[in-house]
Amino acid sequence: MTRDQAKKRIDELRKLLNEYDYYYYVLAQPKVSDYEYDMLMKELIELEKQYPEFLDPNSPSQRVGNDHEQSFEQAAHGYPMLSLNNTYSPEELLEFDQRIKKIITEPFDYVCELKFDGVSINLKYENGLLVQAITRGDGTMGDVVTENVKTIRSIPLVLRGGDFPASFEARGEIIMPHDSFRRLNEERKKQGLPEFANPRNAAAGSIKLQNSAEVAQRGLDCFIYYIVGDQLPSDSHYQNLQYARKWGFKVSEHVKKVPDLRGVFDFIEYWERERDSLPFDIDGAVVKVDSIRLQRLLGETAKAPRWAIAYKFKAERVATRLLSVDFQVGRTGVVTPVANLEPVHLAGTVVKRASLHNADIIKNLDLHYGDYVYVEKGGEIIPKIVGVDKSRRPANAKPVEFVKYCPACGTELIRDPDEAAHYCPNRWGCPPQIIGRIEHFVSRKAMDILMGEATIKQLYEAGLVRSVADLYDLKYEDLVRLERFGDKSARNLLDSIERSKQVPFERVLYAMGIRYVGETVAKVLARHFKDIDSLRFAKYEELVAIDEIGDKIARSIIEFFKDNRNIEIIERLKKAGVKMKAEEKDLPQVLQGLSFVVTGNFGTPERRKRIEELVEQYGGKKASSVSGKTNYIIAGEKPGSSKIQKAKQLGIPVISVDDFLQMIGRESLD
Ligand code: NAD
Repeated sequence: MTRDQAKKRIDELRKLLNEYDYYYYVLAQPKVSDYEYDMLMKELIELEKQYPEFLDPNSPSQRVGNDHEQSFEQAAHGYPMLSLNNTYSPEELLEFDQRIKKIITEPFDYVCELKFDGVSINLKYENGLLVQAITRGDGTMGDVVTENVKTIRSIPLVLRGGDFPASFEARGEIIMPHDSFRRLNEERKKQGLPEFANPRNAAAGSIKLQNSAEVAQRGLDCFIYYIVGDQLPSDSHYQNLQYARKWGFKVSEHVKKVPDLRGVFDFIEYWERERDSLPFDIDGAVVKVDSIRLQRLLGETAKAPRWAIAYKFKAERVATRLLSVDFQVGRTGVVTPVANLEPVHLAGTVVKRASLHNADIIKNLDLHYGDYVYVEKGGEIIPKIVGVDKSRRPANAKPVEFVKYCPACGTELIRDPDEAAHYCPNRWGCPPQIIGRIEHFVSRKAMDILMGEATIKQLYEAGLVRSVADLYDLKYEDLVRLERFGDKSARNLLDSIERSKQVPFERVLYAMGIRYVGETVAKVLARHFKDIDSLRFAKYEELVAIDEIGDKIARSIIEFFKDNRNIEIIERLKKAGVKMKAEEKDLPQVLQGLSFVVTGNFGTPERRKRIEELVEQYGGKKASSVSGKTNYIIAGEKPGSSKIQKAKQLGIPVISVDDFLQMIGRESLD
């Protein structure tokens, strides 16, 4: 690899990992398996080691993955809250041990713990009372989720006994036990809501809910695995956990102190075998140096302590029989093969289906009907077929062939030469595509119309809704005539459709389901073009000139607007009152996460008010006093001297109105 190639790959990996982090930490909807993520991270770390000139403190390898969500207030941790270095190999555990022994020459113990697969939480206690619960965030600041956390019964609000430090932080993992997870998904299925892929995502999603009453229903649990403070009862981490248990925390009984690596390996081996016997998910074991004094001596990097390591279990793998293959048609017409398997237990769930992704994968696996296949699941969203046991192939087994015609409408499939996917070109006549588009249109991040899959199918089959525009022509009389539709459900649906007319333009654009126009691209387009007609008539050159819009997206947009049927739908939606223009309040949220204090004289009080208004319209927060949380001071004439002094003390930049306007890309306050 040349230096240039390395740089290119480093950039690529950083971009990819940042994107995966966002989906994993913020949206709680991982795009890839943990193993895949960890291998990419390993590749990045190795390249950065080889080419230290490209090191960047903002690289995902140097930062704690951030779960911050804008709707939550943030607070600082008393002590940094870091991630853990991880490994899948015993050799690296050996290296970890050797690294430590280079620094520590005295004898020491390790503590082995389960690695709970949930979300971390920091609980602050003052005089025995829970005062604040903060997510890990970026390791320094996290989201305040105290009200939500208080609904978890295993977290004590008041500590027992009297020998706890006056002030300390208890760190632990919020998990969703299997029982709660199953219950939650069954409930969601009934309500037509998307199911959570695994208990970790469900726990992460639950802790960030806006309504703590709803969190209380989710059946979350919490294990404490570390306490930190200036006056801990013992120098031994192990002992501190025993104290924590006495104070009322839930501490796992499977914590083991061992004198050497042999003990560590025994612990790991045991739990790799026995993990399925636990009523919750673990994804490995954590090994920590026991003595707090030695932990301090070893210290930490920006991302993880040097005195601990996570040993992650490899994906579990089982063999089972391939019964048949379904070919499913999605909203964009892409046909996805899905394997039906003889049900088999894997990582705590029963697996019956596995995605085969595309024709190339089927071919590479050389898959035959009746084959015994290996199925893997490792923090995986959908289990994957990773291999075939050819020695068990039945005689005369037929190879699995990709269908040539659409299984839903019979149209001949097309294979995009640039892509591995086959798709059905019958966009306007193929039922699963039409239904899929409606499903996408009504989904929560799009128009947020409350209707499940079953209702959409029902309305489609009744001939009432054949395109998204038809939703806005639905009448009460039509609905109540339908089976399972009562007065209340008809009204609820119509209300929800009515409310969708308030959905901002950028989400409407996303809802249109233009290929490759996801949420982020829709935002970029809405910000740039401001209304649907300007976008419709945009030339290719104009589109690709926009950052983030490449050739593929530009061509897809042009294609979309070339089709008169799309134009017809847009015109009908416009007429119905759906927003086809960006409004002031849909302005780009460039100030998101930033806090401003406005001080001084700006000519008139209206002008000052207008500045504050713009701060909020562009996603920022306005505050009246300067604090550690303030990011900028916007100063007019004669600014408050105490504010300016405090800003200086805290190193907060003081900017002018012009600087501010430049920040939000406006020429003037008007
Ligand atoms: P991590 O989950 O690998 O390990 C650190 C965390 O382990 C701690 O923050 C803590 O919450 C938890 N933990 C559980 N039991 C513990 C115990 N007994 N003691 C101490 N900590 C314990 O690291 P992370 O920074 O939270 O996440 C990074 C990992 O997440 C990656 O290695 C990857 O596997 C996964 N990830 C996946 C994707 C994806 O798209 N699939 C994206 C980002 C991250």
